[in-house]
Amino acid sequence: MTISYNDTLIPYLYEGVYVVDKQRKIIFWNEASERITGYKNTEVMNSFCYHNLLQHVDESGKRLCLDGCPLQKTLSDGIMNEAHVYLKHKEGYRIPVMVKTLPIYDDNQFIVAAIEVFTDERFQKQIYHENQELKDKLRIDPLTQVANRHFFDFQLSKKIEETKVFSNTFGILMIDIDHFKLVNDTHGHLTGDEILKIVAISLSSSVEKTDLVSRWGGEEFIVIVDVSNQTELFKIAERLRHVVMSSGYQVENGKSISVTVSIGGTLIRNDDTMSTLIARADELMYEAKRNGRNQSKIL
Ligand code: GH3
Ligand code: MG
Ligand code: MG
Repeated sequence: MTISYNDTLIPYLYEGVYVVDKQRKIIFWNEASERITGYKNTEVMNSFCYHNLLQHVDESGKRLCLDGCPLQKTLSDGIMNEAHVYLKHKEGYRIPVMVKTLPIYDDNQFIVAAIEVFTDERFQKQIYHENQELKDKLRIDPLTQVANRHFFDFQLSKKIEETKVFSNTFGILMIDIDHFKLVNDTHGHLTGDEILKIVAISLSSSVEKTDLVSRWGGEEFIVIVDVSNQTELFKIAERLRHVVMSSGYQVENGKSISVTVSIGGTLIRNDDTMSTLIARADELMYEAKRNGRNQSKIL
């Protein structure tokens, strides 16, 4: 049987395509295969695919040519196979590819060959990692590495919607560093930045994984906490206040600078929107300031 693959669109495909006969001898090799693997058509035609050529390995590094070859499997059972494997470029390095193998039948429905279509996944993997990086940039405040305001708004609106459906409760804490301008004026803006980082770490490490700490503005943080009553919310606020108060930034002369925070906290109510909820926490935080700072006001 002769199949004229060159009369089809196969030679022009972006995907690598090659065909092996029943003995796994390569009888067709398209241009994309040349581009992806570095092997010219003339170098591979009529050689056997298991002969030290592409050396497919799976993710654990297991060689598939002798045991587990997707083409061999399709040749014997006629079933289409899909697998993520690595093949070897002519220059020796490994390339992640997605391979699909399909059987080719003759007129009597006997399998006479198998076709392998493979897609270079390097580009997709790179895009995936770049996307992750971009996503992180959109979510995280670059100085303090906690969530930024944009991501906080998104999470809070989801949380409010959830409350309306499931009638569950949660609270927020508005946290503002006391006299931070004075810290900057006394120790410099860079030290101020370091203290902001330490406060962010202290806050993040003192809440549950399901809670969200974010930077609301300059020296203000806001936390979403999964609680169901004021007593719990007050306890957490006080814990955070104490953790921040007892953290310190080491300066050269062996001294340590620490800061205190004022906290306003409130639970979600039935008729709350994002802005009424935040306004209430903000007002309570200012009440804590007016009352002498370094304290929590919860309502
Ligand atoms: P209060 O107790 O009333 O909150 O006093 P405060 O000095 O903290 O409040 P104020 O709002 O007057 O000043 C906030 C200061 O926070 C002013 C600004 O210099 C400082 N700040 C805001 N963002 C940053 C930042 O990213 N880095 C540093 N180092 N300082 C910041
Ligand atoms: Mg402030
Ligand atoms: Mg302040």
